[in-house]
Amino acid sequence: MSEQGEGIGRVDGYTLFVKDALIGDRIEGKVVKAKKTYGYGKLLRILEPSPFRVEPLCPAASPCGGCQLQAMSYGRQLSFKEDKVRNHLIRIGGFDEAALPMEPIVGMDMDPEGNRGFRYRNKGQFPFGRGKEGQIIYGFYAGRTHSIIEIKECFLGSQVSSRILETVRVFMEEYKIPPYDEVRHEGLVRHVLIRTGYHTGEVMVCLVINGRCLPHSQILADRLMAVSGMTSVSLNVNRRKTNVILGDEIILLAGAPCITDTIGSLTYRIAPQSFYQVNPQQTEKLYKKALEFAGLTGGETVWDLYCGIGTISLFLAGEASQVYGVEIVPAAVKNARENASINHITNVEFFEGRAEEILPDWYRAHPEERADVILVDPPRKGCDEALLATMVQMEPGRIVYVSCDSATLARDLKVLCSAGYRLERVQPVDMFPMTVHVETVVMLSHKKPDSVINVKVEFGEGEGKVPLDNIAKRAEAYKPKERVTYKMIKGYIEAKYGFKVHTAYIAEVKRDLGLPMYDAPNAVEELKQPRKHPTAEKVEAIKDALKHFEVI
Ligand code: SAH
Repeated sequence: MSEQGEGIGRVDGYTLFVKDALIGDRIEGKVVKAKKTYGYGKLLRILEPSPFRVEPLCPAASPCGGCQLQAMSYGRQLSFKEDKVRNHLIRIGGFDEAALPMEPIVGMDMDPEGNRGFRYRNKGQFPFGRGKEGQIIYGFYAGRTHSIIEIKECFLGSQVSSRILETVRVFMEEYKIPPYDEVRHEGLVRHVLIRTGYHTGEVMVCLVINGRCLPHSQILADRLMAVSGMTSVSLNVNRRKTNVILGDEIILLAGAPCITDTIGSLTYRIAPQSFYQVNPQQTEKLYKKALEFAGLTGGETVWDLYCGIGTISLFLAGEASQVYGVEIVPAAVKNARENASINHITNVEFFEGRAEEILPDWYRAHPEERADVILVDPPRKGCDEALLATMVQMEPGRIVYVSCDSATLARDLKVLCSAGYRLERVQPVDMFPMTVHVETVVMLSHKKPDSVINVKVEFGEGEGKVPLDNIAKRAEAYKPKERVTYKMIKGYIEAKYGFKVHTAYIAEVKRDLGLPMYDAPNAVEELKQPRKHPTAEKVEAIKDALKHFEVI
């Protein structure tokens, strides 16, 4: 199966990617798109079911884009995720398979109904739109599209969501409130965000609207406040033509601006815009691992980068001397400071801004201060290169890396492990059952010399002395290689082969070779035209250039 969860099968040596086909299935399918070396198929009939196949609970499991693995037994999902992490570490990180310090994935416990991996999410963001007859619908986007599939109940989320969503839908029909139409950029209600406190039962609803005012909003607020546990009802203003769900401004309609939840003995206040882990049962296990990997004994200075509302910072503060947190979202930083205060924790300090700017600035201003442990928990795109460089310079004894994308994790570990760190432990945690996503927490330690000898050297000319120009020559040989850019590759190919190659072709060859890729700031969500593929001749020329520049 591919990383996106499609089945990969062969017919007479030709490779096909088939959505909904599982590892171990024998299927009859229809080819819907055929390329030279591979194609895409549609599942028509299962001839022999895979031993790992189970009946999905959700009737919309296949069309909905959310649960790519619901038809796979939970145990097999876990090994799928272990394989994914392992493959990334080997292929992208360049780690040796035999020496990989990987521990078995931490899966979810059985629920009271005997299921594993359902009803775990404490948050849902449901798009609103119109159905075929013009009626108001809500649900989820169908896989890789922006068309809404009507789903009344999501089996990953909490049951209270259904009642809230129905309340909003009925209100909208009654008062003729139009849902947002993203093509025309008109209408009002875009998404409804619902979040529940797992341990407190507190519920938050936030309507994301394309405007600053929702007509009859007090009537809706009153109806929602009647839902058991309802603590916060608000509007979020997002008038931009964008795929980003939340805007910046919050208008409170009823209740409190935040809900609270607890993890272990700590209480956390959470605003609608703040990040908060979506699987509370697994979060506690994840944080315990992060704490264990940090190996604190009480006197350490710790950095928690990408700290959100300070969840991990406060978890670590009890065992450290000082914790510094860095987070980019202002509302989350505000929550982090409140959370320190409501938990009576005084040895933490939070900075608002980009981790890749705050940490280098801080280090420049305090070069003599040490950091014992640096923990990072970045979004999927991973850590910025400038941040990794500063971390290496600061030489913390340990680095703990919490990651929700093992491909960028592997890329970043490669950088850290070629700059004095050793990969000590790798712990995947299943935070997102039924989906192809996997969380991983990793511990790196700074390589210390086994012993030290003192050598006395005299520089200069003459017997027993080391001439300085020899040192300069040797230093030259150790100079880091110039970074190879796409422009250099293109130039080389044009000079040697006389043809031009497109950047996308170079990217495709790099991707096929499993080389690390960087986020393109101008990447588009959907291509206007289907992607073309390079000819064999061009592929060879690109590989030649990559060899020439010692990328491979
Ligand atoms: N450790 C936290 C949050 C992890 S999610 C927890 O477990 O709850 C990643 C967080 O990084 C988000 O809160 C996001 O707002 C923040 N973030 C994204 N880019 C950032 C950057 N460049 N610098 C600092 N924080 C960033």
